[in-house]
Amino acid sequence: MNVLGIETSCDETGVALYSTERGLLAHTLYSQIEVHREYGGVVPELASRDHVRKTLPLVQEVLNQASFRSSDVDAVAYTAGPGLVGALMVGATMARSLALGWGVPALGVHHMEGHLLAPMLEEERPEFPFVALLVSGGHTQLVRVDGIGEYRLLGESLDDAAGEAFDKAAKMLGLPYPGGPQIARIAEDGSTDRFTFPRPMIKHPGLDFSFSGLKTHTLTTVRELEEQGPLSDQDKADIARAFEEAVVSTLVIKCRRALEQEGLSRLVMAGGVSANRNLRQQLASILAKRGAEVFYPAPQFCTDNGAMIAYAGAQRLAAGQVDGAEVQVRPRWPMTELPPIASLSVS
Ligand code: ATP
Ligand code: MG
Ligand code: FE
Repeated sequence: MNVLGIETSCDETGVALYSTERGLLAHTLYSQIEVHREYGGVVPELASRDHVRKTLPLVQEVLNQASFRSSDVDAVAYTAGPGLVGALMVGATMARSLALGWGVPALGVHHMEGHLLAPMLEEERPEFPFVALLVSGGHTQLVRVDGIGEYRLLGESLDDAAGEAFDKAAKMLGLPYPGGPQIARIAEDGSTDRFTFPRPMIKHPGLDFSFSGLKTHTLTTVRELEEQGPLSDQDKADIARAFEEAVVSTLVIKCRRALEQEGLSRLVMAGGVSANRNLRQQLASILAKRGAEVFYPAPQFCTDNGAMIAYAGAQRLAAGQVDGAEVQVRPRWPMTELPPIASLSVS
């Protein structure tokens, strides 16, 4: 089965073709970063407009890349939520129209299930069950995964998501949007000795997170230094390093705790923040000591992309799931409401 995947939940237009027999056949991505940069964050109305301009040309591009005609596409999967309502509506409408025109089924996919399954696009795939750490711009969650659609939420952020915290800390340091990769870049020149930032919630039992205190601590540190004059590049690098270390060690501690609690030895990490090299290294080394394994997507499939939507859609479509003809999106949509694949009747 050849599935076209369309992702438009936020500020990336991603389109891909996934074959259940041959794997990922083509993918392309357009990022709106430049559109939103001067505003320091995503402007929903501009995002929707840009998706309108980009989606169909990108669909044409992946069909060309794969030397496909539209008649070779067996189904269309699109992100139905969670995300920005206008942006989601654009992708959903385009996907449904294409499917109607081509006479094939369409399916709305959960964006976070897309992220969660992105490591399955790699050669070494994790087997179920595992613990997933979803760390993105809007989510920080630990989930027990027993199969596709078999999700139990173990813990989540009570306030900011990890990626959001990276973005806000970057803004405080005068770095451009999106801030995660910028913080990671300058942190490489930062010292670990100068500042130690608090590791939020690690003394708390349980698996929830909180990043707003760390954000405040970062702001206070910036303000105190600014009283003595503008921040030097070294000041910024040292703050970025201390911030990154605090986020990374909090995430690592909670991941270890989640594996222990569930008696599991496989961890899957996905979402934009899982591209962070420091996080990957520290998780790999701590988990290796415990005989546990960690899996993550290729860096290009950590942040939003069409491949993960094509993949997740393909798994569900192949199991017989399809939606009705109405265009429906869900800006808020708990992942635990998804049906397990095992319960779907294969037609
Ligand atoms: P969600 O998936 O929760 O709806 P989103 O789609 O906006 O949110 P993603 O595209 O998965 O999120 O990830 C974007 C986030 O990842 C941003 O907050 C960005 O700063 C962060 N990010 C990307 N690369 C890195 C990195 N190397 N280190 C830290 N954070 C990063
Ligand atoms: Mg994005
Ligand atoms: Fe995302």
